[in-house]
Amino acid sequence: MNGTQHLFIPGPTNVPEPVRQSMNIPMEDMRAPDFPDFVQRLLCDLKKAFRMEGGRVFVFPSSGTGAWESAIQNTLNIGDKVLMSRFGQFSLLWVDMAERLGLNVDMSEVEWGKGVPVEDYKAKLAADTKHEIRAVFCTQNETATGVTSDIAAVRAALDEVGHPAMLFVDGVSSIASIEFEMEKWGVDLAVSGSQKGFMLPAGLGILGVSDKALEANKAVDNAGMGRCYFSFEDMIKLNDTGYFPYTPATQLLRGLRCSLDMLLGAGMQTVWERHNRLAEGVRRAVAAWDGCELVSRGPEWASDTVSAIYTPEGVDARDVIWGAYYKYQTSLGTGLNKLMGKAFRIGHLGSLNPVMLCGAISAAEMALIDAGAKIEAGSGVAAAQEHYRATTPTGM
Ligand SMILES: *Cc1c(COP(=O)(O)O)cnc(C)c1O
Repeated sequence: MNGTQHLFIPGPTNVPEPVRQSMNIPMEDMRAPDFPDFVQRLLCDLKKAFRMEGGRVFVFPSSGTGAWESAIQNTLNIGDKVLMSRFGQFSLLWVDMAERLGLNVDMSEVEWGKGVPVEDYKAKLAADTKHEIRAVFCTQNETATGVTSDIAAVRAALDEVGHPAMLFVDGVSSIASIEFEMEKWGVDLAVSGSQKGFMLPAGLGILGVSDKALEANKAVDNAGMGRCYFSFEDMIKLNDTGYFPYTPATQLLRGLRCSLDMLLGAGMQTVWERHNRLAEGVRRAVAAWDGCELVSRGPEWASDTVSAIYTPEGVDARDVIWGAYYKYQTSLGTGLNKLMGKAFRIGHLGSLNPVMLCGAISAAEMALIDAGAKIEAGSGVAAAQEHYRATTPTGM
């Protein structure tokens, strides 16, 4: 009666209608003789979204966090030295997981608003002449702060100092929405999930694994960290026959088929460009709002999938989110951890278009003014409109 509740959080994202309908089917037999044909084509196409030809992809019935755990358990041993950096809630949680699983973490603390400290990593790698560092971890898109890091630059740093460490990338909020090149960038383990760029409900942990990481898996000491549910070996054995070692989330796999058809049909390049255009409109709006600014410290860090926005001095971001939700039926992302109360987020990834984002900007604007911000009504929307009018979509 009163329209839809609008979702502008950085995951779960809006599920496109064709994807939703593709999952509205009767339960099916996951041991049916024709199931392998479906699975093998699906995994093959999933690789295309990761931009890889060699290696493997794994799909676990879990959230993205399960795929993180799998990446670590299957390729590293307890006590292995790894490089990590912390600059937001998600990179923070990954460090926490690595420590709890027993890795020896050399952590760089970075100001929130910036990303992976490439120079710092490079210096540590260069100093590690005995090659004790086994892996370098990068959160490509820090969803808490709206910061995107340069993964190609991390690969270049590894190559320049001739270091053999594996490259781990958290791409949960970037893969299938921001440029990501598994093979070109020499990424060894890339983690994603179903509910962000893939435009599905939560429930699939998705992992891209290079040939080098598959070799590391063979060498890993099973007596160390141990693994069972997330074991690569079990998954490989059954995936090679087109099945899974336990009940797969068949509905979500059907949805993934549809979402991959949409993404690959448009072309990944087009998908990345579309996200850039959508994001830029939001950034123009933020720039037009007096007293508001992006949490990301400069355009080189700004994310194309989520913008974290500081509210003006004295305006509690929680009031903005509350007002948007109750008064304008619009969900905005909250400020996580130390950004709580200081910032809110607009998720601009997945199934969205400029008019939907003008709605999000309008809701945020009204809620900001209601919460005491001295901004001009319509100023952000007008700035976004200018950008969307001046640019042409490249499809999808
Ligand atoms: C959402 C997100 C996660 C966590 O994924 P879940 O599916 O919630 O487990 C991890 N890293 C990043 C960057 C994310 O955006």
